[in-house]
Amino acid sequence: MASALADKLTRLVKELRGQARITESNVQDMLREVRMALLEADVALPVVRDFIARVKDKALGQEVLGSLKPGQTLVGIVNRELAATMGQGVADINLAAQPPAVILMAGLQGAGKTTTTAKLAKYLIEKRKKKVLTVSGDVYRPAAIEQLQTVTRQAGGAFFPSLPEQKPLDIALAALDHARKHYFDVLLVDTAGRLAIDQAMMEEIKALHAALNPVETLFVVDAMQGQDAINTARAFREALPLTGIVLTKLDGDSRGGAALSVRQITGVPIKFAGVSEKLDGLDVFDAERHAGRILG
Ligand code: GDP
Repeated sequence: MASALADKLTRLVKELRGQARITESNVQDMLREVRMALLEADVALPVVRDFIARVKDKALGQEVLGSLKPGQTLVGIVNRELAATMGQGVADINLAAQPPAVILMAGLQGAGKTTTTAKLAKYLIEKRKKKVLTVSGDVYRPAAIEQLQTVTRQAGGAFFPSLPEQKPLDIALAALDHARKHYFDVLLVDTAGRLAIDQAMMEEIKALHAALNPVETLFVVDAMQGQDAINTARAFREALPLTGIVLTKLDGDSRGGAALSVRQITGVPIKFAGVSEKLDGLDVFDAERHAGRILG
């Protein structure tokens, strides 16, 4: 529960203790505190505005129950709204496809795509008992292919080799053919990222998507990215029919407001959270727990 914010709000409305409902006059100061908490957690400004408007609608006229004060009541509403916003949809990975189920990984360079690809491989092998193949279409970053090979091996998966001089589309199609012929259940396709949104990168991943027809297209985003996450999310949503989000680096000290921004902008569920550099550091995303973290 968001104790820091709850304390603040309770203090704010101390003088209003006699009030039995949340009103236009007592809600403004409280909402200002909520807004500050969300901005401090790095939720993007337009997302904060929308969120505050929704909370205000829900809060106005709300009876304050029993011994609860208006501040506590509002925190309850905020928490529920945060959890509901971030938690909608199916959180587990979808493999409902004619095997091999293809999972396409998208995101900026450094977001954690390669690490998450191996984490997912490990998860699918150990928890879902699947036969998993990985392939890297990142022919630009030196050592990216080798990195995936190393972590795939650590995860216990099979790796389809590729070379920097090949075209990403050719690599992916060859891997798909190999996966079919060798009865793999899942093909995880790691892709090239750039440091910033770049048209050539988007065209490339769109072509990969069209050719592979993935059952999951996962947008991997760094929780530490903060305010910028909204622009990255928007660009990827416009380019690709995303099916889920993986929020990485939640073991860092960010309050993880990017989750709310990215969830709202893409409209797809946050399926997993990356919580360490290690390959077992992948949790199914817990919206309620994350709501508490955002509010601090
Ligand atoms: P890519 O460029 O998107 O493929 O990103 P990488 O998978 O190479 O990850 C970039 C860096 O972030 C590496 O140093 C990873 O170890 C690290 N990383 C990825 N996911 C996590 C995570 O959940 N927590 C932490 N602490 N580090 C992570």
